[in-house]
Amino acid sequence: MSRVPLRVLREEPALVECTECAKCCTYVGVGIETPNRARYATDILWYLYHENVYVYLDGDGEWSVHFEARCRNLGDDMLCRIYEQRPHICRGFDNTSCEVNDHGHESFTFNEPAEFLVWLRENRPKVYAKVAKRFLPDAHRPAATAPEPRPARAHRRGGTR
Ligand code: SF4
Ligand code: SF4
Repeated sequence: MSRVPLRVLREEPALVECTECAKCCTYVGVGIETPNRARYATDILWYLYHENVYVYLDGDGEWSVHFEARCRNLGDDMLCRIYEQRPHICRGFDNTSCEVNDHGHESFTFNEPAEFLVWLRENRPKVYAKVAKRFLPDAHRPAATAPEPRPARAHRRGGTR
């Protein structure tokens, strides 16, 4: 008797609605250079030396620096108080393609210098070697087995919703 393979049904996660999220109204994100040179890599270190700043690598390979900052127009009910007059950049956000609902692309959030340095050591070893030679204080040198970058939060290059 031959076996009939069973179809495995993969359930898509439910779409997160903006009214239950509002994450892209709680930071400012600005595009930055890819760290393919020591100069750009130390720029990222500088960002990460600051509190409440993190760096994001999206699924398309775009880098951005993010500053935690809640928009003054976001109400406690997570609704925009100026929705009809919101800026262009807010209109560009779409919850069908934002990072919260995009489960198909790998992305990283770097919250600490060591998390970024681990990524750099593994993905840009020549750049890491240059940084390690002149720009890496012991306080921030990653351990041989340092923690991996954290899974991405909800954000996108370039700004808020
Ligand atoms: S666009 Fe995405 S990140 Fe922004 S509020 Fe909507 S679901 Fe959240
Ligand atoms: S102005 Fe933009 S960032 Fe601010 S609450 Fe409205 S949609 Fe969000």
